[in-house]
Amino acid sequence: MKAYPPDRIRNVVLLSHGGAGKTSLAEALLFHTGAINRLGRVDDGTAAGDFEPEEQRRHISLSLAVLPCETAEGKVNLLDAPGYPDFLGEVKAALRVADAAVLVCAATGVEVGTEQAWGLLEAAGLPRLFFVNKMDRENADFLRTLEQAQQQFGQKCVAVHLPIGAQADFRGLIDLITMQAHLKDGGVGPVPEGLQEVAETLREKLVEAACETDDDLLTKYLEGESLSEEEVRRGLAVGTRSGAIVPVLAGSALQNAGADLLLAAMHAWLPSPPERGSIEAHDPQGNSVALEPSPDGASAALVFKTSADPFVGKLTYFRVYTGTLHSDSHVWNASRGRQERLGQLYFLRGKAQEPTASVGAGDIGAVAKLAETLTGDTLTARERPLLLPQPSFPSPAFCVAVSPKTKADLDKMSAALARLIEEDPTLEIRREADTKETLLCGLGETHTDVAAERMRRKFGAEMALTTPKVAYKETITRKTQSEYRHRKQTGGHGQYGHVFLELEPVARGDGFRFEDRIAGGVVPKQYIPGVEKGSMECLQEGVVAGFPVVDVKVTLYDGSYHPVDSSDMAFQLAASHATRNGLGQASPVLLEPIYFLGVTVPDAFVGDIMSDLNGRRGRVIGTTPQDGLTLIEAHVPQAELLRYALELRALTQGRGTFTNEFSSYEEVPAAVAQRVIAEAKREAVARA
Ligand code: GDP
Repeated sequence: MKAYPPDRIRNVVLLSHGGAGKTSLAEALLFHTGAINRLGRVDDGTAAGDFEPEEQRRHISLSLAVLPCETAEGKVNLLDAPGYPDFLGEVKAALRVADAAVLVCAATGVEVGTEQAWGLLEAAGLPRLFFVNKMDRENADFLRTLEQAQQQFGQKCVAVHLPIGAQADFRGLIDLITMQAHLKDGGVGPVPEGLQEVAETLREKLVEAACETDDDLLTKYLEGESLSEEEVRRGLAVGTRSGAIVPVLAGSALQNAGADLLLAAMHAWLPSPPERGSIEAHDPQGNSVALEPSPDGASAALVFKTSADPFVGKLTYFRVYTGTLHSDSHVWNASRGRQERLGQLYFLRGKAQEPTASVGAGDIGAVAKLAETLTGDTLTARERPLLLPQPSFPSPAFCVAVSPKTKADLDKMSAALARLIEEDPTLEIRREADTKETLLCGLGETHTDVAAERMRRKFGAEMALTTPKVAYKETITRKTQSEYRHRKQTGGHGQYGHVFLELEPVARGDGFRFEDRIAGGVVPKQYIPGVEKGSMECLQEGVVAGFPVVDVKVTLYDGSYHPVDSSDMAFQLAASHATRNGLGQASPVLLEPIYFLGVTVPDAFVGDIMSDLNGRRGRVIGTTPQDGLTLIEAHVPQAELLRYALELRALTQGRGTFTNEFSSYEEVPAAVAQRVIAEAKREAVARA
């Protein structure tokens, strides 16, 4: 691959509703530019962008692929990002390093995922093209899709193409600037009969939009003069780069129709790194520094992805913002304050790596086997350490418990988990002390499933995934007294310990408290720690269902001892028995963790969410409407939230988000408690 100056590079992220055809479109663009010599198909698992077995099996993109397309005009680094919400982390990484976007939408109409992708592009402030794909499919309707886009996203969506025919009759595209028809078979001709009027109307809108970007053009237009093609193109370029215009194109990725016009449009209207302008970085003292995308001078590159490649090992993807990175050199990782040695640098094309001597400003490359560097780090020059803004990754919201299937898997487990989270910043490992489980948390069930598949394929560690356990606890609800005398005469030396304990409930969250109220040395001082220990150990497993007992105060108020036979162990045993008996008399109950939940949804969903929370035994604390969204805050038992990430998504078509955190323990209602107790007993039997 050639090296390109920054003004001939375009870094373009492809976004869409899952299944709208991004990967197929990238394939068509690669084929069109000769980067691949056969048009692969997502459905056969042969598309260049979907190279991981987990993607090929599911026929969906799960991770970000960098796919450069070279033409005489320069190079477009396509960033094919997954459309599935579980892989939003990859999308965020791509948004961070892209200068522009192509929003792909199927010609059957705007979908929820299209809206969400639009929202992400607005938030990232990226100029964009809108590509109406699948013109060959049944139900394809360009004008209806255009109208929906205009309704949802505004009149700045302006058609620059008009398809000729649709569905089985889709024959090609009219370029509304030149008013020429580009047929699928490669032929170019006049606008076909019957389409002239629509084409003229759309062209008029296009010209109007182009004029509004420039006072001179506007004056000319208002004075009734017609604009040259060149002037329309210029206006479109200015308007698209500023975000005032979103050109709407069309085609069929599967039939490789429209790929050529799309590529030309990306070069003509989307900004190159210099056109996008400087990026604001920070020095270690926090002072901001504007970096120009010039290949000369001290370098700064952002690491936006790390993957474990089966052949080269750890592979680090970076975008150079200024300067040039060279193979076999040293860089300074300013995020970690460490020097890194760069070996061979590569340009990427899906899974293929092409060695290169250098990667210059504005371009994207990769390097293998960095020792210290992780996603989000900045590689820079030691004499001028700088930090580039990081991608903002979403936090994990869905957890599964992972356990190794065999002893061999156990040995590989922790290293494999560590590598996994290194690859994916939206995965997290949590160790739960109460349930002694290791949790793998991600953005959804597909995410954690894919992570487990990768663990097996890449690191040979096979895991079983289960729903996490709830850390139930037990407590008592009334005060009671309990006596136990431990006495054993076995041949010579005997055992003797005798205690009177008082058990009483204390405030929620106080845990275990112990008081020694012995007077007159009826239990000698040296045995008191044994009493406390025996009592505390007994509380590890309660009498209701074997869960730890909390929020109990145990008071030792009387007892007796034997000058020869008493021992620490004898008092521990006595205390343990006394405690156990006491628990049984003190009306013990189950406690469950209650979480504080904050759900944000579009206003229209508030009613559904409230009634759903009701069904989850939730208590709504309040609702706060703001800008069409409502935040609903509630207390909800953890047991009812284990799959909430998936259920909320289904309930709101992916439009809802939530946060949750542990709040307190509360008594489990009797009907629910019966189920929990029965389940705990079943498990205890299974374990035995
Ligand atoms: P992505 O999830 O956005 O990457 O979409 P894919 O490229 O994986 O495509 C999803 C499905 O739509 C696959 O079955 C493709 O073969 C099919 N597809 C993609 N583009 C077209 C197209 O232009 N026409 C038709 N008929 N099918 C398409």
